[in-house]
Amino acid sequence: MDTIITRFPPSPTGYLHVGGARTALFNWLYARKNGGKFVLRIEDTDTERSTQASVDAILESLEWLGIDWDEGPYFQTERFDLYKEYIRKLLDSDKAYYCTCTPDEIDVMREEAKVKGLKPKYNGRCRERGLKESENSVIRFKAPLAGTTVINDVIKKNIVFQNTELDDFIIERSDKTPTYNLAVVVDDVTMNINTIIRGDDHVNNTPKQIMLYNALGEKLPVFGHVPMVLGKDKSRLSKRHGAMSVTEYRDMGYLPDAMLNYLVRLGWSFGDEEFFTREDLKEKFNLENIGRSPSVFDTDKLLAINGEHIRATKVKTLSEFMKPGLKEKGFEPDEAHLEKIVKTLSERSRTIHELVDGSLFYLEDELTYCEKGSKKNMKQNVVEGIQTLIEDFEALEDYTQDKIEEIFKGVLEKTGLKFGKLGPAVRIALTGKTNSPGIYEVVEVLGKETTIARLKAGLDFIEARYKED
Ligand code: GLU
Repeated sequence: MDTIITRFPPSPTGYLHVGGARTALFNWLYARKNGGKFVLRIEDTDTERSTQASVDAILESLEWLGIDWDEGPYFQTERFDLYKEYIRKLLDSDKAYYCTCTPDEIDVMREEAKVKGLKPKYNGRCRERGLKESENSVIRFKAPLAGTTVINDVIKKNIVFQNTELDDFIIERSDKTPTYNLAVVVDDVTMNINTIIRGDDHVNNTPKQIMLYNALGEKLPVFGHVPMVLGKDKSRLSKRHGAMSVTEYRDMGYLPDAMLNYLVRLGWSFGDEEFFTREDLKEKFNLENIGRSPSVFDTDKLLAINGEHIRATKVKTLSEFMKPGLKEKGFEPDEAHLEKIVKTLSERSRTIHELVDGSLFYLEDELTYCEKGSKKNMKQNVVEGIQTLIEDFEALEDYTQDKIEEIFKGVLEKTGLKFGKLGPAVRIALTGKTNSPGIYEVVEVLGKETTIARLKAGLDFIEARYKED
């Protein structure tokens, strides 16, 4: 079998949105799964709307997702000579012609077709006129006048178009630039692309492209049109359904692997499996399991899957992801300490932001106590317990979680306090919060010195509170 060669050809008219990222992912995975090649091509022929900032944003998003390309990025604006060459071939073989009909004339033709109950279209007036190039001339493709054009779609199965419904579409505009359909076919042919997976918003372009392949005598690639991604209300996904750009998810603390996992499930399934690592996907992905109905983008599900990936990711990797966020808040903890912190948090965090926020109490010099929690729990009845804890921790040589737990239980016994009383007070003193990782873990990770200092500060807080009353 030929090497599978796929491509991703974004138009740089904005950021990479989740729908586009899913298309890139499907093509990339299919190439990776089959030991093939993945080509990146920037379709920047719309010079009014294309920007360098969009190119940069797209590349940055792909890099963040870890979608790497084997060739490119190619830029269509650098390939105009090639498109001209192919247009010339079509003209020379009488498969294309110059047309000088004005937009007004074409409007009339479209109206006439409508009156006859046909699809509005160009009527082929210049088809046999043998016109030469002129200032406002365009070049049209001589489309077949009868018969059908069929997309053998790997996802949607056969889609049949009546050729009478299609017109002699333009392949070169009056400003002498190629149209999308022409440029795409020339690129896909010359880049040896043999598998094209794209959004089904392109279904209507595909018969025109198939006609061009046939006219050029080129072998057709495999086509697959993926149903759109919808918002929760089943309308086409847009800004009002939440963040659309891939980098926004990065900035909200999502992991690239979780994003890949979530994106692939928008339209592809593998039994009832929900969790996939990058390596799983490179092994399991196939075109047969791409579904035929639209999928719904659900940010709650994305959040849940991100949590699962956080739990499955090495603490070392997680701490790397956390470093920029921590630095922004003024913390640069040493590697070993940060990894210990992360270990206590990864089970309970769904995003990198939650990890960063959750780690702050370990790193801050001074805690601000939760008001409600401290009122409820920091009372005189825990003073003796905290004092005894301080004494016993001070004497503890082997400062490990097991020993810490032993000491804690010993203090409960000696003082007759219930865990339900001493625990929450110690938690407030050590973390400022009513909700945190397990106390013994926290005591261990904080280290003896900080634990004791915080317990003492807790006692001071209780003392001050009762002085005021
Ligand atoms: N540049 C087109 C787009 O961004 C891609 C067309 C294609 O996949 O053929 O929609």
